[in-house]
Amino acid sequence: MNKKLAAAIDRDNQREEAGMHADDRETCWTHQSWAADCEDDHTPRPTGK
Ligand SMILES: [Zn+2]
Repeated sequence: MNKKLAAAIDRDNQREEAGMHADDRETCWTHQSWAADCEDDHTPRPTGK
């Protein structure tokens, strides 16, 4: 993880704690990456598969 990403995740965490909606994050806490880079991984999966 590069420093710019780490700083952005940290900033998002603080903003989210301050009331920002999770969808407004620039980064993905789950994947520790930029939200745009792992967008595809967050597509809701069909249930029962
Ligand atoms: Zn992700």
